[in-house]
Amino acid sequence: MRLRLIFRHRGVIPQALTNLTAVQGLRPLHVTPSTMADKKLFTPGPLGTSMSVKQAMLRDLGSRDVEFISLVKYIRTKLCKIAGVPQSEFTAVPMQGSGTYGVESVFQTACPRKGANVLCIENGAYGKRLGKICDVMGVKYRVLSFPENEFVDPVAVQKALKGDRSITMVAMVHCETSSGVFNPVVEVGQLVKHELPGSVFFVDAMSSFGAVPLDLMRGHVDFLVSSANKCLEGVPGFAYVIARISELNKCKGNSRSLSLDVFDQYENLEKTSQFRFTPPTHAMLAFSQALRELDSEGGVAGRSARYSENCELLKAGMKEMGFKEFLEPKHKGYIITSFRFPQHPNFNFNTFYTKLNEKDQVIYPGKVLNADCFRIGNIGHLFPADMKHLLACVREVCKDMGMPLPLT
Ligand SMILES: *Cc1c(COP(=O)(O)O)cnc(C)c1O
Repeated sequence: MRLRLIFRHRGVIPQALTNLTAVQGLRPLHVTPSTMADKKLFTPGPLGTSMSVKQAMLRDLGSRDVEFISLVKYIRTKLCKIAGVPQSEFTAVPMQGSGTYGVESVFQTACPRKGANVLCIENGAYGKRLGKICDVMGVKYRVLSFPENEFVDPVAVQKALKGDRSITMVAMVHCETSSGVFNPVVEVGQLVKHELPGSVFFVDAMSSFGAVPLDLMRGHVDFLVSSANKCLEGVPGFAYVIARISELNKCKGNSRSLSLDVFDQYENLEKTSQFRFTPPTHAMLAFSQALRELDSEGGVAGRSARYSENCELLKAGMKEMGFKEFLEPKHKGYIITSFRFPQHPNFNFNTFYTKLNEKDQVIYPGKVLNADCFRIGNIGHLFPADMKHLLACVREVCKDMGMPLPLT
């Protein structure tokens, strides 16, 4: 009925289309965006994006088009600026795929085929993934673990480095998105270069880049990875590596993977301004719009301020309802917050999740191993009004589930 009305309005005879969609069991896709609101994503990703970012994708661009070439140049330049690094020493290399593809591409590229020995520092699921990648690649590695509710401890890292002089790379996560902990990247980086000056320091800053200031220069970071659809609020489709050129130049021929070779990708971009394989043209159009929106928000400082405000509202509102945070207050992360399951006998995460989802509020199960938690993210295209609305929905859902507030 609704479809017919819309089509009639546009003066289109709907018969052929409705027949087709009846056969396929589908609704015409072009009707969906105007008739359905987006859900709000309070998750670690994929994340919500602005309408203008989505609209920037409504074009086709050829990869050899001068416009696309200058777009790639703009994005690479801008990423170095956001990272606060000089382009004389660093370069930004976009890699097709999700964030993990970017992380894996750095291991492939920066680990020599012979003699590589990686120290993977972890205090959560994303840190553990670093070790898993080395394992699958068949690269020698060791995991240095910390509790999920604690920071990475630089003193313990230093001890590990002193104990094994054959380490060629140290890898760690900046914001451990499984709990929300911010790790002391600069302190660790300084120790890494002090203990093993010849080693490579690699940071997965997926969920923090662009919203949490990080001094790459002071932290001696050689490689950093993030992706288009985290704090920079583009659409998913590619990751990017911020690489120290002097280190990247040592990496020719290392990669055991053709598509994940950052050096080769870099060399091609520099020489021909072209990606080696089909570039994510639409995602890059969206990303350049997202970068303009970052600028108009006041850059990293502006984004950090909005996310901090989102997070403070969330934490205060949840506390008022009696929800307990997984992390102690000394943790000042403002990307994602883990909450313990309430003790009330009526609480069931699936019901809680589903009822929120029915109100278009999407939260996320926990990813910590040692406690039952759920997570609420506050990054992406989310604003204080969205956080307040989410809190009102949580309140209603608790009432629905027969859990009187405040929880005890
Ligand atoms: C989101 C995230 C990833 C993984 O990104 P994908 O896009 O899912 O591959 C890796 N590390 C951290 C810290 C993240 O937050």
